[in-house]
Amino acid sequence: MRTDAARIDLHTHSSRSDGTETVTELVAAAADAGLDAIALTDHDTTAGWEEAQQAARQHGIRVLPGIEVTVRHERQSVHLLAYAVDPDPTTRLAGLLRAARESRDGRARRMTELIAHDHPITWEDVQQQVDGPGTVVGRPHIADALVARGVVPDRSTAFESILAADSPYYVQHAAPAPREAIGAVLKAGGVPVLAHPAAQGRGGGVGPALLEEMIAAGLAGIEVAHREHSAADRERLRAIARAQGLIITGGSDYHGAGKPNRLGENLTEPDQLCALLERATSGTETFSP
Ligand code: AMP
Ligand code: FE
Ligand code: FE
Ligand code: ZN
Repeated sequence: MRTDAARIDLHTHSSRSDGTETVTELVAAAADAGLDAIALTDHDTTAGWEEAQQAARQHGIRVLPGIEVTVRHERQSVHLLAYAVDPDPTTRLAGLLRAARESRDGRARRMTELIAHDHPITWEDVQQQVDGPGTVVGRPHIADALVARGVVPDRSTAFESILAADSPYYVQHAAPAPREAIGAVLKAGGVPVLAHPAAQGRGGGVGPALLEEMIAAGLAGIEVAHREHSAADRERLRAIARAQGLIITGGSDYHGAGKPNRLGENLTEPDQLCALLERATSGTETFSP
């Protein structure tokens, strides 16, 4: 990997969760976009990791295995990026993720039933939007079904209306508390990084008390460079990270055609990736070409 000029995007999604491209397509697109390294961070799953290892070799870029873990603080949904954890299915983390995925299935069914009272949509419509077994089902798949039925023009419109967290159709799924998730990631030898803490629309961003609690629990880094962070947000978060000795990351949060985010639009500095990899103790740090 080139060093100082390396282009590193530590936040991407494939069709193993709510991205629209397969892992191989995603890695190929990253290589085409001139990236040297990406992290695959599908929601609540490691299902894409094996394919990522193959694709890294095939397309000659480095891929970090990651997960974007959904955690819940009071009624707020917060995202925790977990890099280079041990994929062993018997870890506490794997158990938490399994419970989240199982409850996501019932939750998506229930939301679909509720929406079906008012709009033309069936569970079969939603399943058609899901890329086979082992995919983490979420609101984006319900959004895609609503688009396919002509109820809304795109995912964003669905999230602003029918699928919003304050809509009458919204149902929660099981998710660990922030402290619990961070502890489980550390125990699995991984590196916990708070995703897009200043992003709005998920309950208003992560407040100072929660951030302090997460740092005390062993948070290793903060995602500072993200589409939903203003210049002022980035400055504030960078200052906090420096003061607390936390790693500073950035990523596109690419979802293929599912969101406007483009690969490489936000990046991580190479020295910060080095610091991150030094923290990992799982032995599954990166997939190299
Ligand atoms: P869920 O975890 O099932 O509640 O769904 C949340 C996911 O929906 C997030 O991880 C985002 O990737 C996606 N999402 C949230 N807001 C939007 C939006 N406005 N447009 C497209 N996708 C969104
Ligand atoms: Fe997503
Ligand atoms: Fe997220
Ligand atoms: Zn994401």
